[in-house]
Amino acid sequence: MALRTHNCGELKTKNTGQSVKLAGWVSRNRDLGGLYFFDLRDRYGKTQIVFDKSEDLAQQARGLHTEDVVLIEGSVRNRPDGMINRQMATGEVEVTADRITVLSRAAALPLSVEDDQEPNEELKLRYRCLDLRRPRMIRNLEIRHKAMQSVRRFHDEQGFLEVSTPFLIRSTPEGARDFIVPSRIHHGSFYSLPQSPQLYKQVLMVGGIDKYFQLAYCFRDEDLRKDRQPEFTQIDVEMSFVDENDVYELGEAMMKRLVKDTIGLEITTPFLRINYFDAVNQYGSDAPDLRYKLRIRRADEYFKDSGFKAFESVLDNNGGVFGILAEGKGNLSRKEREKLEESARDYGLAGLLTVPFAEDGLKGIIGKLFSTEKQTELCKYMNAGSGDLLMFAAGPVNDTLIALGRLRRQLAQGWDLIPDKELKFCWVVNPPLFEPDEETGGLTPVHHAFTAPIDSDIDKLTTEPEKVICRAYDLVLNGVEMGSGSIRIHDPEVQRKVFKAININRDEANKRFGFLLEALSFGTPPHGGIALGFDRLVMMLAGESSIRDIIAFPKTNVASSLMDGAPSPIDDEQLAELGLKIIGKQNNKTA
Ligand code: ASP
Repeated sequence: MALRTHNCGELKTKNTGQSVKLAGWVSRNRDLGGLYFFDLRDRYGKTQIVFDKSEDLAQQARGLHTEDVVLIEGSVRNRPDGMINRQMATGEVEVTADRITVLSRAAALPLSVEDDQEPNEELKLRYRCLDLRRPRMIRNLEIRHKAMQSVRRFHDEQGFLEVSTPFLIRSTPEGARDFIVPSRIHHGSFYSLPQSPQLYKQVLMVGGIDKYFQLAYCFRDEDLRKDRQPEFTQIDVEMSFVDENDVYELGEAMMKRLVKDTIGLEITTPFLRINYFDAVNQYGSDAPDLRYKLRIRRADEYFKDSGFKAFESVLDNNGGVFGILAEGKGNLSRKEREKLEESARDYGLAGLLTVPFAEDGLKGIIGKLFSTEKQTELCKYMNAGSGDLLMFAAGPVNDTLIALGRLRRQLAQGWDLIPDKELKFCWVVNPPLFEPDEETGGLTPVHHAFTAPIDSDIDKLTTEPEKVICRAYDLVLNGVEMGSGSIRIHDPEVQRKVFKAININRDEANKRFGFLLEALSFGTPPHGGIALGFDRLVMMLAGESSIRDIIAFPKTNVASSLMDGAPSPIDDEQLAELGLKIIGKQNNKTA
């Protein structure tokens, strides 16, 4: 029989008078003029336990340590008026104890498990068993669980099959480095861990599975940032006989359901669909944050022959002039404007021209150089009204846009323009198929090599590959890329042309992706899909800023696990069995 009758988050006034048994961890205690209390805590909450029945019992309770695990037998009673705690689910009652049984003693604690005393990250990861006890971490894992169940229910209802794909696969690097697993049976041969199930889900489509999804584990051996982990989870989806709109609709319906099931919010669909080039031109980013305005507008026309020499010479050298409207910021002091100009330079801009729009027109150099008519035209173009501030920057087109995109984000944060709880999704669609590869000087796919070009650009694959637009799309939430996908190539001839454009010859292609290419030759349905970063999504839904706070056992930024000490050397016998020898010094970075 279970040790307990109730959990620690359950008792209400309707239980008053009942005899109960509660089990959990000894949490905050209070000694009030001889009256001794503590909170008993478990995953479900806390219950106040009072020791007022006998002095012996109170003494026994006083001898307990924080985080000892105990069983309390007692009875439920209403708290006296004035002692009610509305913040606590069990705050109207307390349990007056008759008996304490110690189930397990806690050693001296290296960190506090209270939410308001968060330890540093190294301690959190080293003593994860304690860190996980904090209510916030439990709530995060609950949200993660709900998200997983929601995704599974949704796809099941839509007729998808969850198919598990292998972890031990042939090494087919997809952009990042593979994690490699040596084979014991085949010395000198290696498996790799999948960076994503991309090739397998495409084979599933050739296999007639039609609608596949998987909460898929993916592994990438790359340098880590705060929102990256070497192993992570994707919501991986692939469908046959579809086009982009089918993927958008499915993605929107899934997100609607997921947000509702996890945090109870209703989001509006469909999401805005923004062309990739418009996103870069208007927001300085391929992952625009639409929660605030500060849109970028190209303003070359107004500065050509304007007499403003600095901008004119940029335009003469094929650069561009870009403006941003800051509504209601026309009254910033000169000092504040100088500060803006300084941060613009920090982002790599040559400068920032700030132009207040006062009652009597534009101020500063533009006020002097531009006729009243031209000022009116410019303000109309920029949507500016009196009391606003206009900002302009000029330089090489791409670099300036990217710098302005970063400045835009900083301004929104600094001016507090970002609504806290809003979730603003959008699709960014039709990027170029290729981008320059800095290492080789050639081209590399922006998404991956199986992404289809738009039909009208197929001929350009051989003539002007850098100009080809593709059928890829990213899902963006609040300025963060949540995932991406594409309609795939299902014609082996087009696939060969794409490989050629990225300098992969037939032999190389066969060596790396032969099994997919072979499969594609046996009758392939047009297909497409998407993969969404599940961890990052949960992080945003939970309102956390570190991905490590929504993963039970994450790695540090040098890919180690501080709890179990992975990665670790293996002994010589294991190495010999694998036919491996370690050359050189072992490099054991920690933290
Ligand atoms: N497999 C791709 C990735 O992980 C996404 C996709 O195209 O579905 O980025």
